[in-house]
Amino acid sequence: MKHVLIIGAGFAGYLTAKQLAHKSYGTVQITLIDPKDHFLFAPLLIDVLQGDKSPESITIPLVSASKKHGFTFIQGLATNINRSEREVLIETSDGEQTLAYDILVFTTGAGTNYYGNQTAERFAYPLKSLKDAARIKSRIEWAVKQAMITDDAVKRSALLSFCVVGAGATGIEALCSIQDIAFEVCKERVSLRSEMQFHLFQATTQILPGFPMRMVCFALAECERRGFVIHCGVPVTQVTEDSIVCADGSRFEAACVLWAAGLSPNSIRADVPFPLTGAWLHVDSFLRLADDVFAAGDVVAASYQKILVPKNGQTAGMMAKVLTENIWRTLHNRFDLKEFRYLSRGTLLVMGNNAYIDFRFFGFSGAWIGKLRSVYYRVLLWHFLR
Ligand SMILES: Cc1cc2nc3c(=O)[nH]c(=O)nc-3n(C[C@H](O)[C@H](O)[C@H](O)COP(=O)(O)OP(=O)(O)OC[C@H]3O[C@@H](n4cnc5c(N)ncnc54)[C@H](O)[C@@H]3O)c2cc1C
Repeated sequence: MKHVLIIGAGFAGYLTAKQLAHKSYGTVQITLIDPKDHFLFAPLLIDVLQGDKSPESITIPLVSASKKHGFTFIQGLATNINRSEREVLIETSDGEQTLAYDILVFTTGAGTNYYGNQTAERFAYPLKSLKDAARIKSRIEWAVKQAMITDDAVKRSALLSFCVVGAGATGIEALCSIQDIAFEVCKERVSLRSEMQFHLFQATTQILPGFPMRMVCFALAECERRGFVIHCGVPVTQVTEDSIVCADGSRFEAACVLWAAGLSPNSIRADVPFPLTGAWLHVDSFLRLADDVFAAGDVVAASYQKILVPKNGQTAGMMAKVLTENIWRTLHNRFDLKEFRYLSRGTLLVMGNNAYIDFRFFGFSGAWIGKLRSVYYRVLLWHFLR
């Protein structure tokens, strides 16, 4: 039986494993590898951070999912690919093991990019996992509680300052959650709210680069309403335990610095290097890296109509469909592979209880969009489970 080995159980990898298992009815051996024991629905991490959702409600346990859908799950980290022998080296809690493959699928996603800033890596908080969300939440709660019991005005000001680096959708959504958490902690002493500072840093000259202008305007208005201070065009050069320093020498106190400034691909060593665009895996229009290797999701640089497609869950889900079909056709020695076509289903930005959704030619804002998103994601997760 042919063996399809999928590295990374995120949107692209998990959905490909599940869809291929349904399509092949046990005629193909499918193995999915991930160091985590669960699939994480990352778009809802903000809700977990805010305490609106429990961690369990945004994950799918992979052992039970693998049994249900008919693939094998191995909890481990792929560390080396031997393309000449068609083998992958995996580190598990029981030691190292080597797995042979007929088709390899690379869906390892992306991690936080600190752009070589070691101080940021050491002191800033990323938001990529459930553990990250829990750490950020407890840090904010700790800072506000400390501020409530101190009489030292200088100390209090530092404890009530919060910074986010990176004004993309995740950064902006996270700063709103940070404010909501901080406000909630001091609900018995609301006067403290006026002492709080919320800073948003963006190295480029505009927030939400690459997003529709209507959405940028909505975000700017909402940031103003919430009293956020926006610093655009000033790269952050240093992060300490309690401050942030910018390239122009300005320094800001910070009880918590959340880093959402960029992505870097999760790559794996290989004896024969894969084609790259910058640091990203370069796939062709059929999501192929080679005849026997496919890749999808955040780890790739994929274009459609000569434009790079955005890296998000929506894209990764679309890619998983094409990937499933193309793996299936390759296994059956077919050469008529399906081309990946990108079609945006809309762009969403949730800022606390207000939200904006943009469809190419028009957009809407309002609290009802946030509620609609909740229902839509619940249905999507149910569909992922099914
Ligand atoms: C806070 C946050 C909010 C977001 N909000 C949205 C949103 O609103 N809408 C949207 O569309 N997208 C959103 N995204 C982006 C979306 O989650 C990602 O684009 C999507 O998860 C990418 O899917 P993927 O399969 O490429 O990677 P991932 O889902 O990141 O999965 C990659 C998997 O590979 C595993 N892996 C990595 N290296 C190895 C290795 N060496 N061996 C084995 N396994 C490995 C990882 O553990 C991980 O499970 C958000 C992301 C975050 C962090």
